[in-house]
Amino acid sequence: MTHEHLVNRDKCKGCGVCVEACPKNVLALSEDVNAKGYFPAKQARPDDCVFCAICATMCPDVAITIREIADQAPTENKGGK
Ligand code: SF4
Ligand code: SF4
Repeated sequence: MTHEHLVNRDKCKGCGVCVEACPKNVLALSEDVNAKGYFPAKQARPDDCVFCAICATMCPDVAITIREIADQAPTENKGGK
């Protein structure tokens, strides 16, 4: 089972709470605005995410979702780490 981390760009108000809350420093604010004119959060360092869901819990606008995805297709072997 793998996980997927999703930020709903247009729900996000760019408050930065999740960026501060992430223990792995995964998140950053985007450089381009969303539909509401905010700079939404994004995963700047997705490989470091441990899917702890702290960001999703902290977000006042519930803009972050962590999803479990069943492995179907063979996953790419990235090698190394
Ligand atoms: S799930 Fe955890 S590690 Fe991943 S971005 Fe959110 S707070 Fe950071
Ligand atoms: S805490 Fe929520 S609203 Fe604030 S920047 Fe993060 S995703 Fe956007």
